[in-house]
Amino acid sequence: MSIVVQKYGGSSVADVTRLRQVAERVMRTRHAGHDVVVVVSAMGDTTDELLALAKQVSPNPDRRELDMLLTAGERIAMALLSLAIRELGGDAISFTGSQSGIITNDRHVDARIIEVRPFRVQDELTRGRIVVVAGYQGVSYRREVTTLGRGGSDTTAVALAAALDAEYCEICSDVDGVYTADPRVVPAARRIGALSYEETQELAEAGAKVLNAQAVEFAKERGIAIYARATSAPLPGPDPSTDGTVVRRHAPRRPGTVVGVASEREVLVLFSDDVDGPLTLLDERKIAGKQLHIADGRLALVLSRENLHEEDRLRTDLASRFGNRVRLVDRLGALSVVGAGINASFENVRRGSSALSAVGIAVEGVAISSFRITWLIDRARLDEAVRLMHETFIESQRTPVP
Ligand code: ADP
Ligand code: ASP
Ligand code: MG
Repeated sequence: MSIVVQKYGGSSVADVTRLRQVAERVMRTRHAGHDVVVVVSAMGDTTDELLALAKQVSPNPDRRELDMLLTAGERIAMALLSLAIRELGGDAISFTGSQSGIITNDRHVDARIIEVRPFRVQDELTRGRIVVVAGYQGVSYRREVTTLGRGGSDTTAVALAAALDAEYCEICSDVDGVYTADPRVVPAARRIGALSYEETQELAEAGAKVLNAQAVEFAKERGIAIYARATSAPLPGPDPSTDGTVVRRHAPRRPGTVVGVASEREVLVLFSDDVDGPLTLLDERKIAGKQLHIADGRLALVLSRENLHEEDRLRTDLASRFGNRVRLVDRLGALSVVGAGINASFENVRRGSSALSAVGIAVEGVAISSFRITWLIDRARLDEAVRLMHETFIESQRTPVP
């Protein structure tokens, strides 16, 4: 029997009614003749609530203890979903990340999967069981419990799909695929039927939450097809791009075609006259950066707040070690347009910058790669700027994105 891995996000299991609906969808997949592995996220806003609780107790919470706490969210969801499936007559068993053989490095709160040894999952599938796995978590070689960074249940699903040689990996959410921009921000955004790994990875890294960047990287390395779909959608038919998004290897589009616009609100921008010092400090604290530029002996670095839980301590350390040689700016957001060959000329960056300046949005930094242009702008105007870039680059495009 072919193996299918399905992942259900937090909003899909937010309450008991929705958990039951997910259990029914799992059973339909099973009755369609598949072996099913279900990866589940914490219910609703559980992870945010647990983080807020930790902050009340400790403003700079220890990362190991945070992982012990955060993994509880997915553990609750996996047991309840397994119970719901059993109520429908399915033979389900739940496993934590550790029991599923998700081995990670020891970078707590933002761990990377190094290896997957899914022996127990395989044994249970052989017994004919439906296996429910807690997403977002693993275990390090030192046998410490770890989490994979926010949105990490997607990564669990893709990593398991690769290790089990699954037919496909479905990422089920409250949105029916990847859109040309966040449909909550841009009403005119359109669903994209098919995307390449590179385009999807860039969109995810630029802040499109619908798929996790590390998950896409994993899928690209192992050639796993990802189907992004709505939890409320039927099971994928022969062409899953008709009612969702398929991410897989694709022939390149016409170079320079913009496929999507994304943004990240919660970023910090670090400017420094000392280059090595701040980078060493960030490595000591195991804090990962995003874009980095060094020019003329000056460092400019974008840090995401997503997995940064000890910001106060970082600020204190930067101030005590480097004084006013380092400045941490906390009012900018990152606005990105994504598409292969976007940098073929400077036309796209000029077009975007002039559209921003026409509405009085100041550009405080620009970074370009072969897949992405990112502008740093006032965080308060980010949503407006996303709509503007969508109009400029997508709505005005004569040929629609397939
Ligand atoms: P889940 O809890 O299922 O993992 P997430 O909240 O992580 O779901 O991701 C789904 C959300 O991502 C959607 O509700 C949507 O608002 C947001 N989103 C941001 N960018 C995009 C995009 N380009 N396409 C679709 N959804 C997007
Ligand atoms: N529950 C985790 C989070 O909120 C992981 C996930 O949802 O993928 O980030
Ligand atoms: Mg998610």
